Amino acid sequence: MNLTPHVDALLPLFEPEGTVVTLTLDLSRAGIPVATRTFLKDVVEERLRGPGLEKTARRIRKHMGSLVERHPETNGLFLVAGTTAWVALELQVPMRNFITITSVPYLLPLLEARARAPRVAIARFDLRTGLVQEVDMGVWSELGAYRADALAGDYEHTISGRAVVVRTRPHALGSGIGGGRRSRFDESRLEFTAAMVRKAARELAIHARKAFPEAILGFGDREGFPIFRDHLPPSLRSRARYVGPTPWQESDLRAAAYVAVERLVHERTEAELLEFHERRAKGTFVALGSAEVLDWMNQGKVARLYLDTTNPVEGSRCLVCNSLFASPPNGCPHCDGRTVGTSLAQEALAHGLKHPPLAVTFVPTPAPWLGAIGGMAALLSAKGMRVKTGGRHD
Ligand SMILES: [Zn+2]
Repeated sequence: MNLTPHVDALLPLFEPEGTVVTLTLDLSRAGIPVATRTFLKDVVEERLRGPGLEKTARRIRKHMGSLVERHPETNGLFLVAGTTAWVALELQVPMRNFITITSVPYLLPLLEARARAPRVAIARFDLRTGLVQEVDMGVWSELGAYRADALAGDYEHTISGRAVVVRTRPHALGSGIGGGRRSRFDESRLEFTAAMVRKAARELAIHARKAFPEAILGFGDREGFPIFRDHLPPSLRSRARYVGPTPWQESDLRAAAYVAVERLVHERTEAELLEFHERRAKGTFVALGSAEVLDWMNQGKVARLYLDTTNPVEGSRCLVCNSLFASPPNGCPHCDGRTVGTSLAQEALAHGLKHPPLAVTFVPTPAPWLGAIGGMAALLSAKGMRVKTGGRHD
């Protein structure tokens, strides 16, 4: 799912009156869960009562009503509503029930969903058929269906044609030769399977040029997948892993694929957290807390942000010079301008999106270690940076 147009449309949105509502809801394909209904009722009754929010509350209520009527098969909702803006995305990935009301749209839940449900290719092969699919934020689509049979059928025809000739000359051939022909035939069948698998690998490599998968998960025949992997370009080959035989039920295959993706995301996140904790222990190239992170960010030295989606990290922004502060709105010390409340987690994310490349780790919640340092941390890029040494301040 291409989120870029939505992100690009929402990023500039800023309402100093603090009227931008970001609402995420846990829906279920079977219907809206009771917990979500309760959450929504509380939100509408308690949180959407402030000045400038009446219209938004009405619109959200109406939207939810139509959602119940339409009963779309969707797992989560991401919604941003301002005094003029309105973006409602129905997602095939689970979301949590969460709301923020501040001056900026809160994009963390959407980008976290993206990070947790990355684009992966699912390849399955048996001797006769192959299927390559793509799963992207829970949406499945077919990239290519393949048949070795189509090719093998022609070959069998040729063989049986010859067999007719053989039958007319029964004395000329011993039974041993017939056996030899049989095994040559089997070898040829495998060649057709291999040709099919190679074709699938070539086509996936072409597709990956415009939509690169985070992983390629293999199901089915144990022999087919290595051939497939070997014919992928190196950048894709290192991302290919065999999961197991193709489950009988399609729903079981999907479940196995989701488990594999979950494991992949877990491994990736753990590695990113380990790097942070190791660097923190050494005290090098890390920033702790929103003030430090924003400071390094302005200098272009942040390589990776660590954010907790459930913690927007409240701070303030100057309406005149755009400076950000870890404190509540209290006037700008630089220019005396008026300051308004904002989410520093979102401001940091927005800065990163506007100045790529910036990597983001959405930490698994609850994350008390991150809360203890103000809800935000970063890895600093070592490149071109002078290490602070005692007594010298660069
Ligand atoms: Zn200012």
